[in-house]
Amino acid sequence: MMGKKAYKGKWIFTGNKEMPIIENFVMMTEKGHILWVKPENEAEKDKDAVYVELGDVYVVPGFIDAHMHLFCEEMEDAFCPGRSTAYHVCNGVRNAVDLLRAGIVACRDLGAFRGYTLGIRDSIDKGEIPGPKIIACGHAICATGGHGYNLSYECDGADEVRKNVRRVIKEGADIVKLMVSGGVNSPGPEPGPCELTKEEIRVGVETAHAWGRKVAVHTHGNTAIRNCVEAGVDSIEHGVYMTEDIMDMMIEKGTYLVPTLCAPYYAVNEGLKQDPDNPDHAKSKEVLQMHRDMLKKCADKGVKIAFGTDAGCPYDPYDKAPYEMVLMTKAGLTPQQALKAATEGSADLLGIADEYGSLETGKRADFLCLRENPLENIESVAQKKDVYINGEKFVG
Ligand SMILES: [Zn+2]
Repeated sequence: MMGKKAYKGKWIFTGNKEMPIIENFVMMTEKGHILWVKPENEAEKDKDAVYVELGDVYVVPGFIDAHMHLFCEEMEDAFCPGRSTAYHVCNGVRNAVDLLRAGIVACRDLGAFRGYTLGIRDSIDKGEIPGPKIIACGHAICATGGHGYNLSYECDGADEVRKNVRRVIKEGADIVKLMVSGGVNSPGPEPGPCELTKEEIRVGVETAHAWGRKVAVHTHGNTAIRNCVEAGVDSIEHGVYMTEDIMDMMIEKGTYLVPTLCAPYYAVNEGLKQDPDNPDHAKSKEVLQMHRDMLKKCADKGVKIAFGTDAGCPYDPYDKAPYEMVLMTKAGLTPQQALKAATEGSADLLGIADEYGSLETGKRADFLCLRENPLENIESVAQKKDVYINGEKFVG
């Protein structure tokens, strides 16, 4: 049913090393995968293919959000848990569609209330509901009473960490998430205090890696980040109080940074508007610039950067997820660096680069048609666009 389809347009950012941008291109696809992308004057006409004119648009690979939560603030109804469960799951399905509509074709869920995302992931994988490709951790792992305990299994001691890492993998986790530090204003000896011990982190990483799963860690404070990078985690999430010596260690070890600038941005802009007396929002405002400076330094030094939004956190919307790229440029990155993080960077971190992250031979034909050139106006990534999944225009 899905034969060859050739898309013609005036501009494409392929992400391919040799020819990252092609003006007047043809992208030949078959069964939703790309056969080749070429300049129009080098493309041979294929009489078996259906030709589609994309028109006056700028084509980019679908975006990949390496840090979001389909379920974050849920509470169970004490009188009728079944009722609240059904309600939450319906919201989760809608959140997934909102991400897809915004141009997020794949994403990584780093902690879900009751692990619900695992089921949404399965349903999307089977083609039963529309949504982005999901890599999920199910429950996260945290210290008793630690950051994000409503989304996590609480552990104390290396044995409990080992047990619960194995447990989330048994339950279907693609990735393991450790909540290592508190938030920026949790009480403790430093901002973002380290809540798991070095030993707990080490055993968590060792166990996950032994079972073939990568490890993502929520970390704000300097000690927490340092302990995690030393233990060999795969990505530092947030990383506000990271210092240059740690950046050097990350370069050496190939550790990714997923900054999630959206989280404090929306907390400050929306949170302060709606809840002006909440000290958490005032604190977020304080760290906003520090966070951006840290990202810029990482980019200048050459730390690997992936794109993540923390969508689903308070005030952090799914439908504006690509705005993270705009914030990355406000931190001093070029539009090309932001676009690279949201495509190639996240695809590599999520382990899905065989199919996602660029538009070249063998990859999925998951692409976006933007109204303006994102390298000239990065805001266009967050504006109205058409989304193509497996070569088909997504309408939903
Ligand atoms: Zn998060």
